[in-house]
Formats: sequence, structure tokens, C-alpha cells
Amino acid sequence: MRMRAAVLHETGQDKLEVLDDVEAMGFGPGKVRIRIRATGLCHSDLSAMNGVLPQPAPFVPGHEGAGEILDVGDGVTGLTQGDRVLMCWLPACGGCPSCKRGQTHLCLAGFLNAGTPNFRRPGGEVFGFAGTGTFAEEVVVAANCAVPIPDDVPYEIAALIGCGVTTGLGAALNTARVAAASSVAVIGCGGVGISVIQGARACGAAQIIAVDPVAARREAALRFGATEAVAPDELADAKARITGGEGFDYVFEVVGRSATARTAYETTRRGGTLCVVGAGALDDSFQVNMFELFFDEKRILPSLYGGGDVLRSYERAIALWRAGRIDLEGLITHRVRLAEVNDALDQMRSGTSLRTCIEI
Ligand SMILES: [Zn+2]
Ligand SMILES: [Zn+2]
Repeated sequence: MRMRAAVLHETGQDKLEVLDDVEAMGFGPGKVRIRIRATGLCHSDLSAMNGVLPQPAPFVPGHEGAGEILDVGDGVTGLTQGDRVLMCWLPACGGCPSCKRGQTHLCLAGFLNAGTPNFRRPGGEVFGFAGTGTFAEEVVVAANCAVPIPDDVPYEIAALIGCGVTTGLGAALNTARVAAASSVAVIGCGGVGISVIQGARACGAAQIIAVDPVAARREAALRFGATEAVAPDELADAKARITGGEGFDYVFEVVGRSATARTAYETTRRGGTLCVVGAGALDDSFQVNMFELFFDEKRILPSLYGGGDVLRSYERAIALWRAGRIDLEGLITHRVRLAEVNDALDQMRSGTSLRTCIEI
């Protein structure tokens, strides 16, 4: 069945074309067909479009989505037609060494399919970003990519939990395990950085310093629980003033560049924690010399997709949202239809949006 999807024809292009001749392919045993209702635009989608993250083209971007099950393939258990689900782009197989350890976010089994096209159109086959591709009316994915959501969670909120919120909250709760009354700095305050801030607040941090060059994001950070917000060139001063020059207990890098990671390392106190959340490039290397690595005993903790059991992370995000301890509605700063997806890309590039919700 033909449907609409937004396609990037070649890596490096900055516009998507919304086509109505696309077909989701691969339905069969172990698979489900999902009617996408809402999808968020995540910075990783832009990074895949411009080539920072490896992704074959042409492809349909989008990996943060939610919708309802249209069809269930043979052998699928626990899902039925009409179920409301969020999409997990990093599904757990349940049987590999990482899954058995409870580190389901490190399972690569689902990623083996990411090199297989998810869509086709008269012009040829089309990939889906990270094996999903939610800028489409329908997707076909492995059943373990579809996670049922409670009835009180709207699609647009579930979509955000599918990537950005889980990534940011998990960095604070699972990876860094922010301690009560500690000092925290968060470098990069888009949707993921704001989720780190909300996670640090939920953990009881005393000071949360938001660092971002965009004034609108600094203002947003204050609404979501930052105790202070500064531009990058004010960070050294804030470190001296707030920590007496020692550095922060926790610094989160939510940009994905070696330069900001180095700044974050230098802003972390001796014995403190640098948590790297940003998704960076293969050719951008982070350097630490062997003396400082040993002598300053700073813990460098990367955090991939929330750094913990993925389903447990979703449940915790929903529990905190339901209790009013994190604000997810407020993360959605723009709403567009699929036909206006290029406007959403421009807003993301301008740095003014936290999350754009695309209704499909
Ligand atoms: Zn696994
Ligand atoms: Zn993402």
C-alpha cells in the first residue's frame, strides 16, 4: 500500500521531499506494521542527513515515534492490532551477553537490520534511519521495536520517550547517578540536555548550571529546573563562582563534539564525573593526557540511549511524568504536519526549538 513519507535523497542535502509513492516493506513473521501518529525531530536525524552519523541514503529520517499497530506477523506474541506503542530504535534481543547482563541498551542484534532497506518506491529502495524511519505514515519493524504504552500517555509524549527523553533522563539517573545536593553543569540544552536537567533535578541536585549559546534555550533551561543558565564563554566564571574553582561534581556533554567534551572535562572537579551524552563523529577524537587521566581521577562515563535497561527507562520516564516531576508537554515547542517537515528542520537548525512534534 502506497503512503506518504519524507525522504532524503542524498547525504548532505538539507531538504526532505515528502512523497506519496512510498511503501513500507518487509512485513512477515516476527514483524509488525505500525501507523505512525506522532514523531519527534531529534538532533541525530540532522546528523544522519549531514553525514556526521553513518547512515546509507536514500533514507526516511526519524527514529522517535509512536503510533498504533496495524498488523501483526506470525509468531509475534504480546502485541495485537490496535495496540498503542512507542518505537524503540535500539530493541533488545533478550539473549545476547549484553541483554543477559541487563544492559539492553548495548544490544546490537536489532542493529544488524539497520543496513536493510525498510521502504520502496518506484525509484528504488529506501532505508529507514537507524532501522526505523518514522517520518512516514507507516513503518514495518521487528516486533521488539514496538513497546506498548499506557492509555494515559499521548502519542506525542510517547514519541519523545522513544529517544530524547530516555537518553537525557537516563544519563542522570542510570549512568551518572547524580547524588542529592551535588553540583551539576549541562553543556548543550536542546531536548536531550533539558531532559538531563530534569533528571538531575529529580535526583535532588543542589545546583544545575545550564550552558548554551542560544538565549531561548537558556531561558527554557531555567523553566525546566536549571538554577542558573550561562553562555559558553561565561562557564569558566560560573565554575569559579559556584564551585570555588574546584569544578562541578557532574558535567554532562550533550553536544557531541570533542571541543565541548574537553571543556566539560576541565569543568569537572577532581574525582567528579564527566558524562558524555552527545552523539559525535567517527573522525572527531577526544584527548586526555595520561597524567591528568590518572592524577585527577575524573570518571569519564559515556551514556548511550539512557545507559540502562531500555524498557525500565521508559517506565521511569512515564512514572516521573505522571507524578508531575518532569514536564514533557513543555518540551514540545513546535508542532507541524508531515508536509511542513522542512520548517521543522529549519527550526532545529536555528537552535530555537527543544523538540518539534510532527503529526502524521
Ligand atoms: Zn541482546
Ligand atoms: Zn534521537
